[in-house]
Amino acid sequence: MIRAVVIVAFFVFLFNIVTAHSTVSKSTVTQVWNKLQKKGGTNYKLYFIEEDKGFNAYASHKGVLINNNMLQFLDNKDQVAFILAHEIGHMEHGDVHKLSGSYHQESSADWYGAELMSKSGYRLCEAIRFFKKSISIYGDPESRSHPRDGLRIQHIGGGCK
Ligand SMILES: [Zn+2]
Repeated sequence: MIRAVVIVAFFVFLFNIVTAHSTVSKSTVTQVWNKLQKKGGTNYKLYFIEEDKGFNAYASHKGVLINNNMLQFLDNKDQVAFILAHEIGHMEHGDVHKLSGSYHQESSADWYGAELMSKSGYRLCEAIRFFKKSISIYGDPESRSHPRDGLRIQHIGGGCK
């Protein structure tokens, strides 16, 4: 009897690990994407890519691309909304036609993303949680293309209650 309980407990534990690692499905991402596009009055394409280096989402001439690791990194649809809305911001600002990323482009895309996700009904505070999670795992190193996450948090403001 004790052994059965141990086995059940082990499966529950294992199940938790598995679910904690894939909280966001592709269909959820697609739903969020469609909602954002509708609210923003835009019409871009979304691509899922298999790419194993780091977690990544970016805007290109083709549309917005998001990789598998990013899907696993994101905790909920509100965080998905921030990432996608940020990339839609790059599309809207024409950043994909410019040479390389700049602090200004990133901050502008953050502003755009924060506004678009909010008016689409997503919780802005989850954008902050996303950055904090990233800092806790990867730190917050100096970068040529992006402002530090800590600064981006300050810009967006407001944490989860
Ligand atoms: Zn960006």
